[in-house]
Amino acid sequence: MRMCDRHGCNEPGDRPAPKSPNSPERWYFCETHAGEYNRNWNYFEGLTAEEAAEREAQERRDASGYTESKANSWAGPGDGSRSRDEMRALEVLELEVDADFDTVRMAWRRLAKSNHPDIRPGDAEAAKRFQAIQAAYDVLKAAEEARTWKPD
Ligand SMILES: [Zn+2]
Repeated sequence: MRMCDRHGCNEPGDRPAPKSPNSPERWYFCETHAGEYNRNWNYFEGLTAEEAAEREAQERRDASGYTESKANSWAGPGDGSRSRDEMRALEVLELEVDADFDTVRMAWRRLAKSNHPDIRPGDAEAAKRFQAIQAAYDVLKAAEEARTWKPD
């Protein structure tokens, strides 16, 4: 059986999705990742996971954008579902959508270490990945804090 094309996913990939508009080439995703892809492909077309995460982080640093995405995550369904920001961040950290925060922290430490400028001096690709990894962790940490925050 064909597996989902999303990196690290072991679900059956029975949902074809065009790789680009009018292209006969198809990705095959599981239901979750097909939905994710369909929501995001337009916006993220042509971007690697790292570039997409950087774009997300950039938007979050923008003052108004930050307030808006914070408001959206607060208003989101209370079933633990992930926002688009979090999905992209999880992809950068090579994690599945249901990874808990301990797993996120471990993946972040491992990847940040192996791409760290001190470990790989002069490696521009590693430096880029390092930044994306940090941005991804920031997204997931903020989301975790919002999710576990309890009003008095
Ligand atoms: Zn999948």
